[in-house]
Amino acid sequence: MIWNRGHSHHRITSIITQRLVSFPLGMPDLLAAPLIRDVPDFPKPGILFKDITPVLEDPVAFKEVVDLLAEDARKVGAETIVGIESRGFIFGVPVAMKLGLPFAMARKLGKLPFDKISEEYALEYGTNVVEMHTDAIKPGQKAYIVDDLLATGGTAAAAARLVERLEGEVCGFGCMIELSFLNGRENLLGYHIHALMEF
Ligand code: AMP
Repeated sequence: MIWNRGHSHHRITSIITQRLVSFPLGMPDLLAAPLIRDVPDFPKPGILFKDITPVLEDPVAFKEVVDLLAEDARKVGAETIVGIESRGFIFGVPVAMKLGLPFAMARKLGKLPFDKISEEYALEYGTNVVEMHTDAIKPGQKAYIVDDLLATGGTAAAAARLVERLEGEVCGFGCMIELSFLNGRENLLGYHIHALMEF
């Protein structure tokens, strides 16, 4: 009994440590890695928010991230880049420009003015709806989906459903950060996923 209590206390301590003290597991030499700022309890208690704004303020680190995502998108034959609002726009637009590809927006509910389709998804914190214009993807077009961070994978899976409902083909998903302890890849089985760093 006493041993059990001690054991579970240890487990709780290690879970808390995992969430509060985080080290990148992949590509520690990436310039952006040490710039990611952990903000505990944002936007809700218990969420460790990965603040990417310091990366945007460092043009060399930002460019390295864009270059690596663009290289992956090119490798998988991307014909259009889909950015998920709004941090996916920040990384997706320069990737599209670098490759000379179209850029399509997957926006949050109610923002798009023209004919659109919607998909609901569960977020690490709450639920949301993502939408795309019906002409944003051409039938058969290979779409590479970009966001800043992969958590549970719900957002990326919703964006993939939008692309596929528009008869596009998802050729991959690229992000700067993957929170691997949330197993987002399980929501994206069968898709190519490229994350530049893992926490
Ligand atoms: P998910 O659908 O759970 O994969 O969540 C991914 C989306 O939510 C991305 O657009 C992220 O920007 C945002 N997000 C989720 N969790 C976090 C987090 N811990 N820190 C920063 N952004 C997050």
